[in-house]
Amino acid sequence: MPPLAADLSCELLVIGGGFSGLWTALLAKHRDPARDVVLVEGGRIADGASGRNGGFVSPSLTHGISNGSERWPDEMPELLRLGHANLDAMEIAIESLRIDCGFRRADEFTVAVQEHQVADLLRAADTAQALGERVEMLDAAAVRSRVRSASYLGAIVEPGIGLVDPARLAWGLLRACRSLGVRVFEGTPVVSLDRDGALMVASTPSARVTAGRVAMATNAYPPLLKRVSHYVVPVYDYVLMSEPLTVEQWAAIGWDGREGMSDAGNQFHYYRTTDDGRILWGGYDAIYHRGNGFGVEHEVDHAAFARLAEHFFQTFPALEGLSFTHGWGGAIDTCSRFSPFWGMAHGGRTAYVAGYTGLGVGSSRFGAEVMLDLLDGQETERTRLSMVRSRPLPFPPEPLRSLGINWTTRSLAAADRSGGRRNLWLRALDRLGLGFDS
Ligand SMILES: Cc1cc2nc3c(=O)[nH]c(=O)nc-3n(C[C@H](O)[C@H](O)[C@H](O)COP(=O)(O)OP(=O)(O)OC[C@H]3O[C@@H](n4cnc5c(N)ncnc54)[C@H](O)[C@@H]3O)c2cc1C
Repeated sequence: MPPLAADLSCELLVIGGGFSGLWTALLAKHRDPARDVVLVEGGRIADGASGRNGGFVSPSLTHGISNGSERWPDEMPELLRLGHANLDAMEIAIESLRIDCGFRRADEFTVAVQEHQVADLLRAADTAQALGERVEMLDAAAVRSRVRSASYLGAIVEPGIGLVDPARLAWGLLRACRSLGVRVFEGTPVVSLDRDGALMVASTPSARVTAGRVAMATNAYPPLLKRVSHYVVPVYDYVLMSEPLTVEQWAAIGWDGREGMSDAGNQFHYYRTTDDGRILWGGYDAIYHRGNGFGVEHEVDHAAFARLAEHFFQTFPALEGLSFTHGWGGAIDTCSRFSPFWGMAHGGRTAYVAGYTGLGVGSSRFGAEVMLDLLDGQETERTRLSMVRSRPLPFPPEPLRSLGINWTTRSLAAADRSGGRRNLWLRALDRLGLGFDS
């Protein structure tokens, strides 16, 4: 799609061509086919996290049940119901729009790889089951019968999550948007956003867009609204993709159910199979660069790739010798409550969503619905949620920001090395509701 070359006007301007922006544009047309919608993307569609993620599509809107239960205990039944409905609606949209993105339902295993994690998982299973979720615990023998690794000591299984090839999903959503008349411009970064009377004006290097309403879906990128930078920090996460496995290699690890996998460490790995017979293996490192450092220079980190490869072969020694053909990194829009938040600016003309903290493939569709509710001035079940009405705690300014984040990362790594024991710093964060727990 060519960049914007001449000034134009529209009713709704969407800034950002990842899942949040694409769903916002698509759902805006579903709500009102006559609405004139323009989407501008600074680079190419799915350049950001939406084209770089593991493709786990969780029904959770709250970055997991434990995180949600600690923050919004009274709302959890509603949040779980809305989350499952969101995933169902996403599946229906993919089918009805004929988006070829390998979407499928699968079991998700969170495996314990240290003794104390078995107890952690049992507690998580109790919490989920008390809320009516269909999760079950497997012992070491049962989980190893599904995927063979001597490091597995047990697992919690969540049935019916989604797995998807994320870039193909984004490109399919783009096609659907365009077929409904959304005008899309790539290579068109918005450099400033200002109010002009009753309208908004977005300036790009080549032209201006005048819009009645603006939906900001810029995730971990440097935000156009200063206030968002207090709430979101970009944290880099890395992924390896293996070469296709042979029949013998698959047999050696017995992984024929194509489950989505992750482990229960604070610094955890996530991994899955792909349609063309590879293994995607990512996670562990979460690297923050001072001053909300952001850019292509952080997308390749050979030390992080080497650590990931080492952990891969510790998990699957039977695959020794397998090569990795691709490695990449991407920024995660981390906030202090680890789940999305929304806000309005410019007298209700601009809405934004951010803060998915690494679990936005599914919840970005919900994030888009909320932005549209807010922009349309509609009070809905979604906008009445405390989760939607509240904000995370802001991060402190630098240098405290880097000191705090880096000390937290080191403390989490130390807890993983010492049987899960959380130091004073982590316990203090836990008491403030700021403690990360995978
Ligand atoms: C390595 C990695 C693995 C992950 N794995 C998973 C996973 O398995 N499951 C899961 O649920 N989540 C995962 N996530 C998180 C998930 O990918 C994100 O939450 C989700 O894609 C966010 O979508 P988005 O549209 O909000 O952001 P993005 O996809 O980042 O899109 C933002 C877009 O805005 C554009 N933009 C920014 N500023 C401007 C501007 N000023 N003007 C114009 N355009 C602008 C950017 O170019 C970008 O395309 C992962 C993330 C990473 C990085």
